[in-house]
Amino acid sequence: MRIKARHFVVATGPIFSPQLLWNSEIRHPALGRYLNDQTVASCMVVLSKELVAKMEDDEGHKGIAALPPNAAEPQVWIPVSEKRPWHVQIHQDPINFSTTGPELVDQRLLVFLQGFGMTEPQWDNRVTFSATHTDIMGMPQPIFEYTLPPKAVKEAHEMIGELAEASLALGAWLPGHLPEFEPPGASLHLQSTTRMGKKPEDSVVNENSIHWGYENLRVGGINVIPTATACNPTPTAVAIAVKSAAHLALDGKVVPASYDKLLEDQQSGTVAS
Ligand SMILES: Cc1cc2nc3c(=O)[nH]c(=O)nc-3n(C[C@H](O)[C@H](O)[C@H](O)COP(=O)(O)OP(=O)(O)OC[C@H]3O[C@@H](n4cnc5c(N)ncnc54)[C@H](O)[C@@H]3O)c2cc1C
Repeated sequence: MRIKARHFVVATGPIFSPQLLWNSEIRHPALGRYLNDQTVASCMVVLSKELVAKMEDDEGHKGIAALPPNAAEPQVWIPVSEKRPWHVQIHQDPINFSTTGPELVDQRLLVFLQGFGMTEPQWDNRVTFSATHTDIMGMPQPIFEYTLPPKAVKEAHEMIGELAEASLALGAWLPGHLPEFEPPGASLHLQSTTRMGKKPEDSVVNENSIHWGYENLRVGGINVIPTATACNPTPTAVAIAVKSAAHLALDGKVVPASYDKLLEDQQSGTVAS
């Protein structure tokens, strides 16, 4: 089947965007390269008796009674900073814990700590695609080549050390949930496989998400994020997409510094909607 369009936008995720381009025989040298995964470490603690005994609510309930049965779970986010290049989430982890069944145990006593570290994008870290094997969708099978750079390894160890220390201040580790590194890919934050950049030598798309060498092909998604991050990546990808969509809507005219200004201009009729 052939589809004719004035503009094409490929936004099929960090592995399937390069896969789709590869399968379309659009094979820029940087395609799939700079694959960038955040390092992840996590552990789960059971709150210590000492800490629980210290709890007291406004009505004088003490210990575990100070926490109502339907108490909201903790939602703590410690953002990345220059001196601490990882971000930490503290909560009760509905994702990993769902199979054990929150109905069976008192989840108020459990605290999940998870850190996400930075990995500098490297040319040699990449996803390529098989010329002979296909995935279940009949697309070329992804093949991963990935090594953590030494800086990321060092920082990942600092991150897990901090998680271990912080979690022991809260209680004792739940067996099976001691501090450990999660396997590659577990961050669910694979990035940079169609990296944005200023020159085609080290990127796939330009600053408006236009594929180098094409005028009407754009790429979106977390695969466009060019640099190391240690945060949930979706808002960054959305911000890039909004900028690129504004550029597309304006037919290449300069994108206003603020999206609000673009909307204002549209309302006043200065630019087309
Ligand atoms: C359990 C879980 C929890 C997460 N939590 C967070 C979070 O709290 N915060 C955060 O920022 N991120 C989170 N993420 C990551 C987040 O989901 C991704 O960052 C985000 O979805 C990436 O957006 P995307 O548009 O690049 O790709 P996707 O969301 O993967 O979208 C790609 C789409 O393309 C489709 N597609 C693929 N191949 C083709 C094809 N050949 N043709 C047509 N369509 C195709 C796919 O079906 C999919 O719908 C989480 C992910 C998971 C799995």
